[in-house]
Amino acid sequence: MSEVTMEKIVSLAKRRGFIYPGSEIYGGLSGFWDYGPLGVELKNNIKNLWWKMFVKERTDIYGVDAAIIMHQKAWEASGHVKGFSDPMVECKKCKRRFRADQAEGPEGTRRVGGKCSECEGSFGEVRQFNMMFKTHVGATEDESSVSYFRPETAGGIFVNFKNIVDSFHPKLPFGIAQIGKAFRNEISPRDFVFRAREFEQMEIEHFVRPDEWKRWFVAWREEIFMFFETIGIARDFIHESEIGDGDRAHYSKRTIDFEFDFPFGRKELCGLAYRTDFDLRAHTETSGVELSVIVDDATGEKIVPHVIEPSFGVDRAILALLTSAYTEDELNGEARTYLKFNPAVAPVKAAVFPLLKNKPELVAKARDVYEKLKTEVSEIAWDDNGNIGKRYRRQDEIGTPVCITVDFQTLEDDTVTIRNRDTGGQERVAISTLDSVVRQ
Ligand code: ATP
Repeated sequence: MSEVTMEKIVSLAKRRGFIYPGSEIYGGLSGFWDYGPLGVELKNNIKNLWWKMFVKERTDIYGVDAAIIMHQKAWEASGHVKGFSDPMVECKKCKRRFRADQAEGPEGTRRVGGKCSECEGSFGEVRQFNMMFKTHVGATEDESSVSYFRPETAGGIFVNFKNIVDSFHPKLPFGIAQIGKAFRNEISPRDFVFRAREFEQMEIEHFVRPDEWKRWFVAWREEIFMFFETIGIARDFIHESEIGDGDRAHYSKRTIDFEFDFPFGRKELCGLAYRTDFDLRAHTETSGVELSVIVDDATGEKIVPHVIEPSFGVDRAILALLTSAYTEDELNGEARTYLKFNPAVAPVKAAVFPLLKNKPELVAKARDVYEKLKTEVSEIAWDDNGNIGKRYRRQDEIGTPVCITVDFQTLEDDTVTIRNRDTGGQERVAISTLDSVVRQ
């Protein structure tokens, strides 16, 4: 099997309508990507499976969808205004900026032996660059109207902690989950959707008793592996990396990065952090609103819970799925490319074809099969364009697990052929059993 490269993945993602460069007709905008029809479905499948596993199927986790822009004080309290920065150097000659801890700069420029690859200029002092996107809320553009696009979804969870406690009176431990966009003005966005300036996160803040954090930290390690197994990334492909003192985010006392072998190297796919009571205490101090829970109804004893945070990036999960699913092989003597998606995330679950487009009786019958299946299993595609071999290739390339062909025999005995993406093997099944076969 030949190597899976970023070029192949990026090209397939664009060609087949998964992911396009943002603002492409204007030459693109670095760090921004647009999801096309298949990308949206893939993304929704991942988010829905996550929500089902961590919110719907549990009674101790509450979902929220908080505003992206919050009060400036919330970001001061969380430490992001002061500390959410990356080290940066600037070329003294051409003014291009680079992450001081990485070799690459914007638009493919590089730091080569301490010099700028574009103009060979030397660099100034290392400075801290705050990665939050600043904006102004309302018609006045002064310091009081400054706010930020959230750099992580966690912020919206902490500011709603009291609301959840007041509405639902949960007992510890309990969690709050959120899926949504986050924004970081990355100095050097790169590696496709891996390091973007606008991306999506799926985060849980799990509130626990302070003396129980270790137990919950271990439990969440396992949950993380289980989630990736659910979407089709086996645990053997995920590697834990303990983050040492000095390298952790300002709020964390313990962090594990879960890494994946992307084509450009082993890099963080998601993270698990022990955020202590840092955020609840900081928001209490800044807002003046007490953020605590009653742990003993009889005495009214209150505590400030500690927090375990599993933080998943949707876009990195998509890139990991594209990387692990991308397969090149030979089928019936022909080279082919296909995405070996787990059916749970495949954007299209099955495609229905009439064998020939110009035979009305075949088309009508295939249409019936298609309409029926669509009501039973969603995400069914219709394709009557080109010869059957071409249609198979198209579906293979987008990772459709099975293709169903209506042929002349169907008109006689109500059976169809069902063809497996991975093996290319075909079998005949009765239309009456089709939905259960496809589901399986
Ligand atoms: P990195 O070290 O790669 O910059 P991080 O440690 O800053 O990542 P976290 O703050 O832990 O990332 O964010 C949680 C998750 O959000 C990451 O594991 C990743 O999946 C996702 N994420 C963070 N930054 C980006 C980005 N710029 N583009 C896409 N996804 C991101």
